Amino acid sequence: MNANTMTIAQARDALRAREISAVDLTMSCLTAIDASDALNAFVHRTPEIALDQARAADARLAAGDAPGLCGIPLGIKDVFCTKGVASQAGSNILRGFKPEYESTVTTKLFADGAVMLGKLNMDEFAMGSSNESSCYGPAVNPWKVDEVLRTPGGSSGGSAAAVAADLCLGATGTDTGGSIRQPAAFTGITGIKPTYGRVSRWGVIAYASSLDQAGPMTKTVRDAAIMLRSMSGHDPMDSTSADLAVPDFEAALTGDIRGQKIGIPREYRIDGIPAEIAKLWSDGADMLRGAGAQIVDISLPHAKYALPTYYVIAPAEASSNLARYDGVRYGHRASLAAGDGITEMYEKTRASGFGPEVQRRIMVGTYVLSAGFYDAYYNRARRVRALIKRDFELAFADGIDTILAPATPSSAFGLGEMGASDPVEMYLNDVFTVTLNLAGLPGVAVPVGLDKKGLPMGLQLIGQPWAEGALLNHAYALERAAGFVSKPHKWW
Ligand code: GLN
Repeated sequence: MNANTMTIAQARDALRAREISAVDLTMSCLTAIDASDALNAFVHRTPEIALDQARAADARLAAGDAPGLCGIPLGIKDVFCTKGVASQAGSNILRGFKPEYESTVTTKLFADGAVMLGKLNMDEFAMGSSNESSCYGPAVNPWKVDEVLRTPGGSSGGSAAAVAADLCLGATGTDTGGSIRQPAAFTGITGIKPTYGRVSRWGVIAYASSLDQAGPMTKTVRDAAIMLRSMSGHDPMDSTSADLAVPDFEAALTGDIRGQKIGIPREYRIDGIPAEIAKLWSDGADMLRGAGAQIVDISLPHAKYALPTYYVIAPAEASSNLARYDGVRYGHRASLAAGDGITEMYEKTRASGFGPEVQRRIMVGTYVLSAGFYDAYYNRARRVRALIKRDFELAFADGIDTILAPATPSSAFGLGEMGASDPVEMYLNDVFTVTLNLAGLPGVAVPVGLDKKGLPMGLQLIGQPWAEGALLNHAYALERAAGFVSKPHKWW
């Protein structure tokens, strides 16, 4: 078996038993990455850093001092600031930007012994559901079932493609409205968006600060539990990070869900949902019932407003966050003509540095925050957001432990197929994922089956706040019942 195909848990055990070295494991990932250029998953490679970290990990393993992720090679989404290493968030405006500091998440992962293989492709500033808004061009879905090149999803498309294709053992992602869960579902892997505040946002290039949350993307639920523990924890550098102890999420994976109440929200039965997704959903409910859970119909009456609410709040926050890219402080500055002043410098830099989707979001966000429209759009969206959150609180107060829903309204679509004439078509992809970001809740996507084309499909479990352990245990029970073992085309 090629070492790069291992799960994190398998590699951890093999490293500790000294059956494999961290350097060999890292080399096998670096070789796979080099042979998989066609996936366009890694956009900055850091083999020297990786091998240095792997050698240090081997020394710690030899000394019997091996923390949680000691020697485990990971990919890092380009949205995380990594000291001295290009961190562009998929945008031309950050071309050449090498941060002076390390994000809290990567600091924690490195302290836990992880190895960084490089930076992963993503939609520009994490705005998108297909990775097609990236300045590096789209990442490609490793599931190649015919001649069509498909999206790995977005915005964490590079992370999903890299993990699914065994280029790394796990990857970081971020999820503002689905960017961990949708790409996980499109590529047959697992991804969890934790409770808002569980993971520090310090050093994560901001999209929409009240929604952004980082999390792991991995081959199995167990790996997600292991990696999430390393990424989590209070950080004084992020005022929204929660001062709560981080439980051992892996220890929660008993697989025993007998007597647990799992809610099926009727509002998620939307028109036009493909029969295969509807069937996957009811099959998933049957699997959980078979494992001893009680399946209950529930109502989340405001869920139908989640998408328009999200597409007001997220652009509003983005327009404010992205004001800092002015050609003065970071990365790209447009070349100026004689006589151009500071206004022309801002305008030309922003017009040439931001891609069309980001420009659209900035304009929408500025509009909904403008004096004349603030109440009609932004304030109303904030009020609806509170109602959406309340729906979940009522369901949980009624004794529901987790909620089961589809992760996406389809399997992976072809590159260039979606949103070309109408951007809203792409936004509709997020119909099942944005709700829980608005409510701040944790959600996990688990691969459950293949559609008739042979593409993976995933289901989503939504948990109570701060109950990632229980949520992952439910995901573990679903993973075991589904027995999803299919792998994509081998690229290396
Ligand atoms: N697709 C959604 C958007 O474009 C979500 C992206 C994300 O979670 N970062 O905003």
